[in-house]
Amino acid sequence: MKFSKEAVQTAAKEFLQFVNKGPSPYHVVEECKRRLLAAGFIELKESEQWDIKPASKYFVTRNFSSLIAFAVGGRYLPGNGFSMIGAHTDSPCLRVKTRSKKTKNGCLQVGVECYGGGIWNTWFDRDLTVAGRVMVKSGHKLVSRLVHVSKPLLRIPHLAIHLQRDMNDSFGPNKENHLVPIIATAVQEELETGSASSGDASTAVTTAEKHHPVLVKVLCSELGVHPDALLDFELCLADTQPGALGGVYEEFIYSARLDNLHSCYCALQGLIQSCSVDSLAQEPNIRMITLYDNEEVGSESAQGAQSNLTELILTRLASSPSNLTAFQQAAPLSFMISADMAHASHPNYPEKHEENHRPAFHKGPVIKFNSNQRYASTAVTASVVREIASCVEVPLQDVMVRNDSPCGTTIGPILAARLGIPVVDIGGPQLSMHSIREMCCTSSVLQSIVLFEGFFQHFPRVRSQLFVD
Ligand code: ZN
Repeated sequence: MKFSKEAVQTAAKEFLQFVNKGPSPYHVVEECKRRLLAAGFIELKESEQWDIKPASKYFVTRNFSSLIAFAVGGRYLPGNGFSMIGAHTDSPCLRVKTRSKKTKNGCLQVGVECYGGGIWNTWFDRDLTVAGRVMVKSGHKLVSRLVHVSKPLLRIPHLAIHLQRDMNDSFGPNKENHLVPIIATAVQEELETGSASSGDASTAVTTAEKHHPVLVKVLCSELGVHPDALLDFELCLADTQPGALGGVYEEFIYSARLDNLHSCYCALQGLIQSCSVDSLAQEPNIRMITLYDNEEVGSESAQGAQSNLTELILTRLASSPSNLTAFQQAAPLSFMISADMAHASHPNYPEKHEENHRPAFHKGPVIKFNSNQRYASTAVTASVVREIASCVEVPLQDVMVRNDSPCGTTIGPILAARLGIPVVDIGGPQLSMHSIREMCCTSSVLQSIVLFEGFFQHFPRVRSQLFVD
């Protein structure tokens, strides 16, 4: 291994701080924003006119759940390329329903909606909380506020094995009936408050009436507002157990949302670290990271990878009164790494993996190939990444799925099609993808950061050595 264990563990621990602060896409954007501001990036608004300067760094958010950050090279001219890394800020989770109040058998429950393709079995018997965005009325203003309750509030209990003897053979919970967390009992609530909340929210009028008062009270006390001020919210359920290092050699990361906060974090750090004054002054391209919400549900939203967000920003940056085709010229000179986690080979299910494509822990980021265009990698884009990886001494792996296996997909093919920019799909190896608690190796954090930083620094040179026309 090229990197010292100390450097690997330091990077992994820093990533744990990041992932623990990101229980919802809004919190991910907030944490990215905090780190970008600290690194000297300037916030821009889509609704304003921009005055972009060479050798300067900026970022913009949309819906406060997607973020694009970029550093303009000192030698950038309209028509030059964009060096881009894309990832996604969302992860499969349960979300509080618009009207969540439910009461059954003396239990106060919170109705939840399944977001994305989670392994819902893993949400049982976890100590859950809520985190997300709340719209609050403050005077005449409608204000978006973030909330993350740090204590365990909710639990979805398993049914005892005595009442379902076959559960180890086939546990398939009904997503409407069996995934409803308990927040309190009516008995305890009556003791605490003098009256118990009951019934459902089918006839509720105000936001406060749509949810059990105890949930409203928790949110209001976190936000310091009156229940009447609550307008609406988007709340994700999240595990309260923080991510941790694991394994006897502490070589693993056990955490929620590795897919895809691992890639978000490494893209962010790669960009920030690449922007030393000297490096940026000599840069002919714009270095950019694009972190999108809603990948887990198909990317089709105002803030998703299918939206016009990327194209609008790229055309705005490339626009020039003296060169009306600057964006069209920039597209083929640009490149995107679509960064999303890859499946490591599972020791208990070796038959699920193609025999020549078995990504392993510690052996480097994985290039994903699928000629049916579930992934966007081509021989050309993979060659570019291999050349950069060898410059920065990061090992790479390859993966393809079996012909008789389903295959995931990423934002890679979407952006390749929308923008006409060459894309490679790449990601760190992990297990338990879409479980409430996933697993990867510590070394993949530093490997990915070094690869991404190297991409920003070396891509223009490698592109100038590429002859494919
Ligand atoms: Zn993903």
